[in-house]
Parts: sequence; structure tokens; C-alpha cells
Amino acid sequence: MSRIRNISVIAHIDHGKSTLSDRLLELTNTIATLGVHKQFLDKLKVEQERGITVKAVTCSMRYKHKGEEYMINLIDTPGHVDFRAEVIHSLKAGNGCLLLIDAAQGIQAQTVANFYLAFAENLKIIPVLNKIDLPAAEPGKVLEQLEQTFELDPVDALAISAKTGLGVGAILPAIIERVPPPTGSVDENFKCLLIDSWYDNYKGVILLVRVFGGTVQRGDRISSVHTGHKYEVSEVGLMHPDQSPVNRLCAGMVGYVVPSMKRSSESKIGDTFYHVGKPVQALPGFEDAKPMIYVGAFPLDTKEFKRLEDSINNLSLNDRSITVHRDTSTALGQGWRLGFLGSLHLSVFQDRLKDEYGAEVIITTPTVPYQIEYRDGTFGTISNPSEFPDVVTHSSKVLDIREPVVEATMIFPSDYLGSVIELCEACFLLKEQTFLSSSRVLLKYIIPLAQLVEDFFGKLKSSTKGYATLDYEEAGYIPADVLRLSLLINGKSVDALASIVHRSQAERRGREWVKKMRGLVDRQLYEVVIQAAVGNKVVARESISAKRKDVTAKCYGGDVSRKMKLLNKQKEGKKRMRSIGNVQISQEVCTWKPGFL
Ligand code: GDP
Ligand code: MG
Repeated sequence: MSRIRNISVIAHIDHGKSTLSDRLLELTNTIATLGVHKQFLDKLKVEQERGITVKAVTCSMRYKHKGEEYMINLIDTPGHVDFRAEVIHSLKAGNGCLLLIDAAQGIQAQTVANFYLAFAENLKIIPVLNKIDLPAAEPGKVLEQLEQTFELDPVDALAISAKTGLGVGAILPAIIERVPPPTGSVDENFKCLLIDSWYDNYKGVILLVRVFGGTVQRGDRISSVHTGHKYEVSEVGLMHPDQSPVNRLCAGMVGYVVPSMKRSSESKIGDTFYHVGKPVQALPGFEDAKPMIYVGAFPLDTKEFKRLEDSINNLSLNDRSITVHRDTSTALGQGWRLGFLGSLHLSVFQDRLKDEYGAEVIITTPTVPYQIEYRDGTFGTISNPSEFPDVVTHSSKVLDIREPVVEATMIFPSDYLGSVIELCEACFLLKEQTFLSSSRVLLKYIIPLAQLVEDFFGKLKSSTKGYATLDYEEAGYIPADVLRLSLLINGKSVDALASIVHRSQAERRGREWVKKMRGLVDRQLYEVVIQAAVGNKVVARESISAKRKDVTAKCYGGDVSRKMKLLNKQKEGKKRMRSIGNVQISQEVCTWKPGFL
């Protein structure tokens, strides 16, 4: 036990976590030297493309220090706010963390969020300034920020370049000397914390665990505290960095366990496992992941329903946080209602669906869960605009509607303080304003989740010339004056395109919407009327006069090949169309585009 160190790496996105992890794996000869762009720890294609770590990847390294061999378990945490629960449990698995900060950018929103999570877990924090090779690096300034903001002593900080390797050699000795070894004993009852899980086509669900007491080996029968399900262990091992089986995992270690588990939804991050018949107390801090964003998903081509369903089921096998339910829309037909942790989670899912299956899919505007209190004393949660009370039901049956809010932390150069306050003060509640230094400021606001999802980050970025960073955490529910905005095409309501909006914004949103639609609906042989309405009241209207779009009109019958080319082009354009009633509309109208990243 005294030769084990469990440590996680936390950082704001892009500050160099994956690059550093790879460098450490090389230093300990866990992997051979890699090319510049082949990061080992960011395995998934989307992760490599976006340069973000979506799933935490942990690995074990052997390292000799002063003649003794140590095992260092390095836990790479997801860098994005949607995956906060995973970050917390990665932290709980260790006794220390490397707090990595880009020496050119300084402290950012997720640096602050991650620092406080690590601080709350009582971890030994080792500050590491990265990218000191950059000409723009200002290590002195960043050390000052660390001292002012977190009361971290600058002498404890290491300065490195994960890219060139400069200074990286000092990290492993620092981990061994400063981070305490794990506690717990092999003589206790077996008890482990579930940190992560993934799906393997041959082995089923694989659990990544930190053992807090006792041992576990092949053939053991284990059970989950939170689900009560029982499993038989067929393999245990270390991530070195790929799965390497061992005879047993002992207290203090981080490794994987293969149970006979078929569905990812049974693996709940933060859950405790124990030997059947030898119950233990649950490890603290467990919370079931709950979706905060819901969308409708429909195949563009209804013949693709089965194939798309297989793709969605396959992807959700590997992502325990997605919820999937069948849903039917009168306008778009059979589809699904999907729940996600946040907008990044959703956009990563959209990317994977496209990448791995090439599926063309309509994703409707995200909706957050609203809590409804009815006059008869009952409560409900609604996350689908088509189930939202209409104006009549609203006034007769609904007492109160509440919407989820988040506490958003923003950090940016103080030059932009005026414009950010202007963006936020009308609708949001200010909680905190702190100067991190003479030129950087931190603001905290309470913001409705729905507005955050809509494109708050984009607006914040443009108010600060791209300099602001954002982090948020759930902050409960507040009363909300919201209603359903419906979209009608030739008098027919398109249920899948309805959305829930604040009363004060209904007219503006309605106008924006019909305008956008007008540009995307094909001209027909008859007039097309597009309306946005709240209940029976039309708040915006556009019409498209009858005229067939004749793409060959300009050719004067002359050039035949050009005529063919244009006709084919029109056909291709049609491919991405979906008919609603007797009107063809473009996929673009229906598909929500992520505004968060
Ligand atoms: P992560 O999001 O924290 O995992 O960050 P990555 O490790 O993916 O790094 C983000 C970007 O910063 C990549 O383009 C890296 O090549 C680059 N980077 C990482 N470390 C350094 C460094 O020490 N110096 C320089 N110049 N660039 C670095
Ligand atoms: Mg990364």
C-alpha cells in the first residue's frame, strides 16, 4: 500500500492534460514514444477531433524512486462541465491531484471549478504551470493568481512544457513525496468505488474501480449497493495502459473488473460494490446521473427507422447517461425522446451518430425539464413541448411552473466587464464579482438552463472577443413564466417544432422563427402560410406566394448537360427535405445546431 499513489489530473479544457498524461506514460516506459498527434489517452475519434476528453481514461505506471518501485495510478478526468459527476468520482479515487494551468492563459473558469472540487475532497494539490515554452507564457503572473485566488504557495508549483518535455521529470518524484499513499486494508471486507465504465463487444460492461478495502478476483460474486444486482467476476486487471489481467486487485489499487453485466445503464458512477453476503456501507457522494436536456430524434427518411434505432441503442450501450424512449410525432412520425446531461453531451452524441453510423437524423430544439405544480396539489415534470399545458389548461389547472437554473462562473479580462454585465443584468441574478488580479475578473450569475443552452456561451464569447471562459453547476429551480410556442404550416401545427419560451420573449422568438422558416421552405404550387402562435393567438406570420421553382428556366433549352446538372442538383437538394403535411421543408429547419462549443 505504501508503494501506491493514486492521482488525478485536472485542468481547464486545452490546458494540456492529455499531452501531459502521454508524456508521463512515455517517461515510465508504459508506452513507446508517440508521434505528436497520436494522443494515447484521448481514444475516441470525436475526442481527437475536438481535442477534449469525454470519457476519463485511467492508467497505471510503474516508477522507480530512490531504489523502490512504485505504482502510480493516473486518472485523466473529463474536462467538461457536463461530466462533473465523473470528475468528482475520479477525484474521490485518489489522494492528490495535479492542477494543470496554461502559463499563457492563466486561471480559467474550469480551473476554478476543478480546484474547489479537489479542495472539497481534501486532496493534496500540486500546481503545475504548463506550456512555459510559449513566448506568451507569463509564469510569474500565473503564480500570483494562484496565490491570490486559491492561497496556493508559489514554491510548491512546478513549471513544465508537456509538449517539449521540459521539467516533466520533476512531476513523478513530486507525486511520490507529496501525495499520501491510499489507506484501507486487504483484511477488511471487499469494497470498491465505481469510477468509470465502458462497453466491450466481447466482455460486456467493464468497470473501472478503486478498491477501498479487501480484495477481488476472478470467480467472486459481487453486488451493487445502489441497484442490488448481483454479478460474477470473470476477470480483473490493471490499465497498463491497455487491459492487463492480474490475479487479484487489492485495497488501494485502481483497476478494472469484468462482471457479467449486459447493460451500461446498470453501472452507476459513484456506486459501491461488495462481496455477496458481506455487505458494506455505501461510499459517500453517490448521485444518480439525471438528464437535464431532452431532444426529439427522428430519421430523415422514415424507411431508416430500424437502422437508426439500432445505431442509437448501440451508442447508448456505451454511454450510461443517455436516456432513450420511443416517441411519436404527428408531423415527423416515429422517433425517440433522448435525454442528455448537457449540451456538450448532446453534441458529442450527434457527432458520434454521424461518425460511426453515417445516420441522417433530425434533432429537435433542446428542452429542459420543467416542474409543474397543479391546482389539485399534484406535481409533474415535463420535458417535451408537445406535452406542455396549452393556454386553457394552463389557466384552469396549473398553479406554478418552475425551471432549472445554473450558477454560471465566467472569467475574462476586466476590459469587458461592462459588456458582460450588459449581457447578463437584464435577465440574470448577480451572485459574485471578484477581481482575480488587476486585469481579470470573475462573475457569477444565476442563469436559466434553457437560456444557457440556447446560445449563452456564444453571446458571452462575442461580448469578450472570445476571451471569456464559462463553467456552471446546477442551482435548483425557480418560478418561470413560460408558455408553449407552436409553429403552424398552412394552419397545421408541427408538434415536433414547438418549443417552450418565456412569455416576454414569445413574440420575438416567434418572429425570428417564421423568418427563418420562410427562407427554408420550398415554394409550392400554392401559397404557404407560416405562423407562430401562443395558444390561439398568432404572434408572427409569413407567407410564401405560389410559384414553382423552375431551375431550368435560365437555360433556354440550350445546353443539355448543364440542364441535367442543374436538375440533379435540385434532386440532391430534395434528398435532405422532409415533407410535413403537403409542404416540403429542409432538414435544417428541424435540426438543432449546438451553440455551446
Ligand atoms: P487537454 O484538453 O487538457 O487534454 O489538452 P491537450 O493535451 O489536448 O492540449 C491542448 C493543446 O495544447 C494541444 O494542441 C497541445 O499540443 C497543446 N499543448 C499541450 N501542452 C503544451 C505545451 O507544453 N506547450 C505548447 N506550446 N503546447 C502545448
Ligand atoms: Mg484532453
